[in-house]
Amino acid sequence: MTQHTVLVINSGSSSIKYQLVDPEAGTSLASGLVERIGEETSHLEHKYGEKVVEIDGPIADHGAGLRKVLELFAKVGPNLSEAGIVAVGHRVVQGGKYFSGPAIIDEKVEQKIRDLCPLGPLHNPAHLKGIEVARELMDVPHVAVFDTAFFQGLPDESATYALNREVAEKYEIRRYGAHGTSHQFVSGAAAKFLGRDDLKQIVLHLGNGASVSAVVNGHAVDTSMGLTPLEGLVMGSRTGDIDPAAVFHLHRQAGMSIDEIDDLFNKKSGLRGLTGDNDMREVQRRAAEGDETCILALAVYNHRLLKYVGAYTAVMGGLDAITFTAGAGENDSDMRRELCERLAFMGVKLDLEKNAVRSKEPREISTPDSSIRVLVIPTNEELAIAQQAMTLL
Ligand code: AMP
Repeated sequence: MTQHTVLVINSGSSSIKYQLVDPEAGTSLASGLVERIGEETSHLEHKYGEKVVEIDGPIADHGAGLRKVLELFAKVGPNLSEAGIVAVGHRVVQGGKYFSGPAIIDEKVEQKIRDLCPLGPLHNPAHLKGIEVARELMDVPHVAVFDTAFFQGLPDESATYALNREVAEKYEIRRYGAHGTSHQFVSGAAAKFLGRDDLKQIVLHLGNGASVSAVVNGHAVDTSMGLTPLEGLVMGSRTGDIDPAAVFHLHRQAGMSIDEIDDLFNKKSGLRGLTGDNDMREVQRRAAEGDETCILALAVYNHRLLKYVGAYTAVMGGLDAITFTAGAGENDSDMRRELCERLAFMGVKLDLEKNAVRSKEPREISTPDSSIRVLVIPTNEELAIAQQAMTLL
C-alpha cells in the first residue's frame, strides 16, 4: 500500500512545532521544534526514529527556520517525497464564524485568517507567519484546521453572551471555544471505545491550557473557553473565569493599561499567579510539603472543575461518560481521584488500581458498577489535524 503523510505545523510567535504523520496508520514518522526564533539563542531539534539532531545558533525568522527543517528532512530523513507527503496541515486557533471544518488554504482563506487576528491576537498572527513561509517553500496543498471549528455548531444559548446585542454583533463577540480539535478527537475516540454514539459526554482537556466540553451524540453543546482561550478552567498561567469588572477595577485603581491586564490574565495568573509555578506537578509537590498557597491553588483548580462537570451534566440532562485528556488529565491520578470522589453523589465509582496505572493507551478507570463511565484517552492533535487534512483532500 502506498504511504501518504501529512506534515503538521503549529506555528507560534517565536516557534515552529512540526510532526510528519501517517494519518491512515495513525503513526508519527518524525517530529521537531524550532524555538526562540529571532533571538541569538535559537534552537532546533529534529527527531527521526533513533536519530536526534540539535542545532543551536541564531535563526532570524520563520522562513529561515522552516528552510532549516526542510534541509534536515533531506539530510537526516525521512525524505519527504519518498515518505509520500500529500499535504501540510496547519493548526489555527481562531476560525471565527467562518470555519466549521478544515479548509484548503488559498488566498481567500489566508486573508480570512488575517481578518480574524483581532479575535485571536495571541495566535493567528503567529500562525500566519508559518502558513506564509510553508506555502512558499512546499508545493503541496496546505490545509488549515481550526481549534474553533468543533464548536461552530454550539446551540445559540451557549454561544451567546448576555451582552448588548448590537455591540456583540458588530464586534463578533460570542463563544467560539478552543481546543476543539482535541475535544472532537477525544470524544470520538471515547464513543469508539465505548462502542456507541448516543452518548452524553464530558471531555476534560487538562494541560497547561485547560478546557471542558459537553458533547451529545458527537455534537458539542457547550464548552468552557469563550471568545478567546482565556475563559473557563484554572490554567497554567490563565485566570479562567473571572468577573470582567476586575478589568475596570485594575484599570481605574491600579492604573494598568489594557495590554498589561491582558498579559496579567493570560500569562501571569492561573496556577502561576497563585503559586509562582505553572506546572501542576510542582504545585502538587509543594502542596504535599504543606505549602498553604499551593494547597489553596489546588482547591481552586478542583472547585472550578467540579462546577463545570455539575453544570454540564445539568445542561445535557444526564451524563454517560467523563473522559480525561492532555498532560494533567492523562497523568495526574490524584486529581482524577479527587474529582471522581466528589462526584460519588452522581454514582461515579473509580477503580483506584486502574486509575493509578500509567499508560499511553485509551483506558477505562471506573468500576463496572459505576453509573458513569470514566475514561482516560490520550489526545493527539497532530494526528487529528493530519486526518482532517487527509479527509478534506
Ligand atoms: P500539555 O499542555 O497537555 O502538554 O500538559 C502540560 C501540563 O500537564 C504540565 O504543565 C503539567 O502541569 C501537567 N502534567 C503533566 N504530567 C503531569 C503529572 N504526572 N501530574 C500532574 N500534572 C502533570
